[in-house]
Amino acid sequence: MTSPVWHPYAHLKTQRPAPKVIGGEGPRFTLEGGETLLDATCSWWCMIHGYAHPRLVAAIREQAGELCHVMLGGLTHEPADRLARELTRITPEGLNHVFYSDSGSVGMEVAMKMAVQYHQLRGRPGKHRLLSLMKAYHGDTAGCMAVCDPEEGMHSLFAGYLPRHHFAPAPTAPFDAEPEAVQADLAALRAVLERHHEEIAALLMEPLLQAAGGLNMTSPHYLKGARELCDEFDVLLVFDEVATGFGRTGRMFAADHADVTPDIMVLSKGLTGGYLGHAATLASDRVHDTFVGDSPEHAFMHGPTFMGNPLACRVALESLAVFEEEGYLDKIAALNRVLRETLLDDAALAAQPSVADVRVLGATAVIEARDGAALAGVGDWAREQGVWLRPIGRWLYTMPAYITSEADMRRITDTMKGWFRRA
Ligand SMILES: *Cc1c(COP(=O)(O)O)cnc(C)c1O
Repeated sequence: MTSPVWHPYAHLKTQRPAPKVIGGEGPRFTLEGGETLLDATCSWWCMIHGYAHPRLVAAIREQAGELCHVMLGGLTHEPADRLARELTRITPEGLNHVFYSDSGSVGMEVAMKMAVQYHQLRGRPGKHRLLSLMKAYHGDTAGCMAVCDPEEGMHSLFAGYLPRHHFAPAPTAPFDAEPEAVQADLAALRAVLERHHEEIAALLMEPLLQAAGGLNMTSPHYLKGARELCDEFDVLLVFDEVATGFGRTGRMFAADHADVTPDIMVLSKGLTGGYLGHAATLASDRVHDTFVGDSPEHAFMHGPTFMGNPLACRVALESLAVFEEEGYLDKIAALNRVLRETLLDDAALAAQPSVADVRVLGATAVIEARDGAALAGVGDWAREQGVWLRPIGRWLYTMPAYITSEADMRRITDTMKGWFRRA
């Protein structure tokens, strides 16, 4: 019998029945029938502690016995207060205010609305458009779709339905580029700002790693330069760290590589260790204090029903405690060494005719194929090797759980490479 579940991004005519997951432990999940698969993607990059982590599960159980949910309108609770304090402690200096919501997309909607209202309150209502980058992906809601790459992105079908914003070219200088190498990227950004800054409220970017738009890994110098340009043109800088936050690029936040504080920063995926959907939009004092005023327009009119959900906040606190107590940045560095050794240092891989590029940053690695067709069937083939891989377009990538052992990391990269050797 076919299931009434409508799967995301699925082609309904060609999709096959989805395997049913009945549980999981560590970096593996188990399918009905007993097959276990090593998850190379940690479930869309959020299950950073793997499945069934005892401390995270216990935290949810404990919180469920006390308080599962209460509205944050006019009320507060200990997990929301404590998590907000922790987030302001670990994020770049100056981000002192936390607005909760229930997903990365909504967290970005909050950021964009905040930026537009910030300029409105300062008497600059003309600054109501956004500046985004090509290759960007910021989510699937309408506001977010409008700031995703309008050409190669997955939402071009909706162009007529979406508000129009501005786009600068995607940065091209790689992570380890010299400062001079980002000058061309910054000049392109400057050109758009010079022309349109009068109507631009904020520059949005996924710092260092444009993730779903093609795993484009870019330079910390670009972040520094972008910060300076935003200050020069009175434009807020918004970092979408939904994917990069919590260690994915090798530091706690991508912003940490550049010592840059954005005006607004959005966290989600790894926030709760993936155990519940939640997001946090952090704002600087400058942004927050602009909303302190006497007119009714000073209120920020946003409030998702489930914002600050106690279960989500409680498990986020536990996730962060495990991350810090168990030295996750060291684990990420160890995974990075394996990724470099097995992928970057493999000359035979780079020489494969179907391989366009190989990139590694933190606990992220991608083999970019010349053509998406070269990856047709890779998921089924990987499953036969006991690994769950799900490419995006022409990008075969891994973003493993940080508890993945070195041996399992090698198994994942062997499988990724094996596909190209076989093809
Ligand atoms: C996944 C993602 C989002 C959207 O988050 P959802 O929780 O799926 O709404 C936004 N920005 C980036 C960078 C992401 O990777």
